[in-house]
Amino acid sequence: HRPVVIFLAAITVGIIIMVVISVVQNKPLYQKYKYGIVLDAGSSHTSVFIYEWPAEKENNTGMVQQKHTCNVKGKGISSYSANPQGAGASLQECMNEAKQKIPAHRHPETPVYLGATVLDSVALSLKSYPFSYQGARIISGQEEGAFGWITVNYLSENLRKPTGTLGALDLGGASTQITFVPQQKIESSDNSIDFRLYGNNYHLYTHSFLCYGKDQALKLSMGKKLESTLKTDPIELRDPCFHPGYKVPRTVPDVFNTPCTKELKLANENFLHVGLGNWSQCQQSIRKVFNTSICSYSKCSFNGVFQPSVYGDFGAFSAFFFVMDFLNLTSDSLATTKEKLAAYCSTPWEKIVGNHPKIDQKYLSEYCFSATYILTLLEDGYKFTSNNWKDIRFIKKIGDSDAGWTLGYMLNLTNMIPAEAPDMPLMPYG
Ligand code: AMP
Repeated sequence: HRPVVIFLAAITVGIIIMVVISVVQNKPLYQKYKYGIVLDAGSSHTSVFIYEWPAEKENNTGMVQQKHTCNVKGKGISSYSANPQGAGASLQECMNEAKQKIPAHRHPETPVYLGATVLDSVALSLKSYPFSYQGARIISGQEEGAFGWITVNYLSENLRKPTGTLGALDLGGASTQITFVPQQKIESSDNSIDFRLYGNNYHLYTHSFLCYGKDQALKLSMGKKLESTLKTDPIELRDPCFHPGYKVPRTVPDVFNTPCTKELKLANENFLHVGLGNWSQCQQSIRKVFNTSICSYSKCSFNGVFQPSVYGDFGAFSAFFFVMDFLNLTSDSLATTKEKLAAYCSTPWEKIVGNHPKIDQKYLSEYCFSATYILTLLEDGYKFTSNNWKDIRFIKKIGDSDAGWTLGYMLNLTNMIPAEAPDMPLMPYG
């Protein structure tokens, strides 16, 4: 029995050593607890609850206990309706506290649930109307892209004819989506979505870039510029994407207050945002927010995301339209668009304000950035070229309906687009 005895002795010594180490470090031998986080987003406030339970007794009743609670400062998430990014940012303090309370090695397996009872009160109020309330849910970026695609193709009556479909380009404040029927194989399953509509199968490519909507992209881009500027004194952010003569005092937390920019940690400082009005420098600076050097597929758009070559006609809506329409840039060649935009960006701020006294100055100040961002996203990001630039149609509405994900979402939920073609052709509008 000698080997058994030696084996047992070795285990005993091992255990003694571990106990000694843990006593010396004043830590329990094993982290015996598991954790869960629940956010109660109510109408007037949000609370974060941390629960813990013994790891080996997960299924026994009475084991889960509240370990900690944190009240989020400020009002409920619904009060951020005009500033949705602020809703996420407001949770930072409590979520950091949760990181402290829960041992680091448990973090990856700790579930987080968001219970928005605020939705219940909104639901309750919606139920008081004489309509049939169908519930609320958060839609994913992929769904946003796909439903936008359904909307534009439904409205253009492309779905019941064998002719081609229209790709969909959506630009919001926080995210942007590209969706189209590609000619090449979709190499990543995350980017593929299938529909059967009116008897036709559609195999779509879609991707949603969070943080690449125009407001967040502006923050990303200003953040990159600020990082290199903060060493100078006094701090001036000399920004080629804003008009010459534009000068606005800002604070660093103003720019770095969202999940998209939180990696860029900077001290609480004031700086002066100064416009230079130089379109080509502006484009150079915007290129820095796109990482085009990594790709593990045969081709990528940016940030390592697979994207087949763009194919066919595209409808570009939401902020793509707002910005390009404001600047009268919806129907020129790519080269002419760039020339006109360069001239616009170099126009003095005073003159811009004088020409548009009624337009909100925040929008007005950002059109040069926004349009340059749009061109860079479409050309460097999605790989549109001067040859297929004309295939992009900047649209707001098709017929009387706005292009966007909402109509497609409803059509899908109500099964209003049958998978199979009806035997009899449908009469328009019944
Ligand atoms: P979302 O609210 O995420 O759909 O984003 C819409 C984006 O379009 C936001 O960046 C808004 O600031 C922007 N937007 C809305 N109306 C206009 C407008 N008239 N001119 C410029 N941008 C606009």
